[in-house]
Amino acid sequence: MELVNKVSLVTGASRGMGKAIALKLSNLGSKVVVNYVAVEAGNKADADNLAETIAHLGGEALTVEADVRDADAVKAMIDEIITKWGKIDILVNNAGITRDNLLLRMSDKAWDDVLNTNLRGTYLCTKFALRSMIKQQWGRIISVASISGLIGNAGQTNYAASKAGIIGFTKSVAREVGSRNITANAVAPGFIKTQMTENLPDAIKESILSMTSLRRFGEPEEVAELVAFLASDRAGYITGQVISIDGGM
Ligand code: NAP
Repeated sequence: MELVNKVSLVTGASRGMGKAIALKLSNLGSKVVVNYVAVEAGNKADADNLAETIAHLGGEALTVEADVRDADAVKAMIDEIITKWGKIDILVNNAGITRDNLLLRMSDKAWDDVLNTNLRGTYLCTKFALRSMIKQQWGRIISVASISGLIGNAGQTNYAASKAGIIGFTKSVAREVGSRNITANAVAPGFIKTQMTENLPDAIKESILSMTSLRRFGEPEEVAELVAFLASDRAGYITGQVISIDGGM
């Protein structure tokens, strides 16, 4: 229970990796904010179900609807958390989307949607959550980047640019707020089994598997373990880093 008395905000936590991260942080004693965006009717139900599961396991969760692309919505979410729990200790910038296409066929909308969700969302959540961390002189910011942001990926110029942007952003934030005892790190997953990857064509899955030393895809819970470590006091001297979790790609 090393995160007792901590308040964590996990963006895009209704499913996939965000859900696994929220559960893990809660298991370690943190109060958890389950952020979701209600673009589909089922999303609120998913977030509410997760909050119920957390409560059933003895934890505390608050669900907050906010589109991370929207500055007013993000600010309102942070205000709601501060009103309820007084602070934010741990921010996990997890919300992310893909809109893959080859560059010559990429629509401006696909470019903007991905950059706005992945990079602008990370910027907005970090900016608004920082005030509380600075006030208490303790904070952990963990942003979910991707192997694509490190080595690139054909068909993912928008996604890779957004994730590489998150890495530069993270390293700069780490330098800006390190003196306030706040760390900022990124994790760079390879292929993790979530809704984001389940519909990829079999040929692509096979090719990724063949490039992966461990010859299997990752589980969301494995990424959650890494995020939980970075959120803990055990990782107090790690900042400005990108930690790959990709089965050895
Ligand atoms: P996922 O199952 O598609 O989940 C993405 C989450 O982000 C969903 O909860 C989604 O909410 C939320 N989201 C999307 N747009 C949002 C917005 N504007 N505001 C708030 N929430 C929003 O994908 P995942 O695989 O768990 O991905 C989680 C993160 O890991 C992403 O940043 C992704 O880029 C990164 N990643 C994934 C992999 C992989 O192999 N799966 C690899 C590397 C990095 P809704 O349910 O409401 O749409």
